[in-house]
Amino acid sequence: MSLKYKRILLKLSGEALKSNDEIYDKQALESVSQQIIELTKQGLEVGIVIGGGNIWRGKLGTDLGLPQIEGDYMGMMATYMNGLALAGTLNRLGFTKVEVYASLELKTVTLSYNFKEARQKLQEGYVLIFVGGTGFSYFTTDTASTIRAIEIDADALLMAKNGVAGVYDKDPKTHPNAKMYQVLTHKEVADKNLRVMDLTAATLAKDANLQIEVFDMQGENNIVKVMNNELESTIIK
Ligand code: UDP
Repeated sequence: MSLKYKRILLKLSGEALKSNDEIYDKQALESVSQQIIELTKQGLEVGIVIGGGNIWRGKLGTDLGLPQIEGDYMGMMATYMNGLALAGTLNRLGFTKVEVYASLELKTVTLSYNFKEARQKLQEGYVLIFVGGTGFSYFTTDTASTIRAIEIDADALLMAKNGVAGVYDKDPKTHPNAKMYQVLTHKEVADKNLRVMDLTAATLAKDANLQIEVFDMQGENNIVKVMNNELESTIIK
């Protein structure tokens, strides 16, 4: 089997790690980790940006009357927990070539982000987990994923969705006749106002001509499947 890409940036939302009523689900952590291990065995170089929505979102802070900046930093901190949970699971499953790179310094458990070092580590077969988002409030993990994908020189940004197979012309949850696109250009995404990612991230991706692939990670081995051309998805290029 030959893989679609040599180096990817995988964007995982925090929801990918949770169960219905707990912030973490052991099986979800293991499934994601096993698939990453499998893909590295197939020769794929993998960087991961992890979100924090299973623990905290900036909006929750606003609902509590907190200033947005505090709420956003709390969200960025949530991504550290998720990154460590994923790194710890990979280690427990016997995969130890893992580094966690942080946008905001947290010594002892993470390394300070450095793109040159990150590229080198990817070449050496390390799985890299990027935490702390962009390190700035008012941004999102989608924007962090786009920046990291560009900086590590990834062949594509893989956007793992929970229960949505790709990009549609209408919301498939409310429109049963919604049509899924197989391939789109960045210009079409902008012209049709399609919500693939937030506008800041979409603009960056368009300017850098970054290939994006949107797929549903809910399904057995879907991350491995999409990398082996065995799963439907939407490619934006
Ligand atoms: N966040 C931020 N700057 C960033 C990335 C994230 O301020 O560069 C905050 C923002 O408040 C966001 C929260 O962290 O709501 C959690 O990240 P996100 O919601 O993007 O995670 P996901 O929903 O993808 O799990």
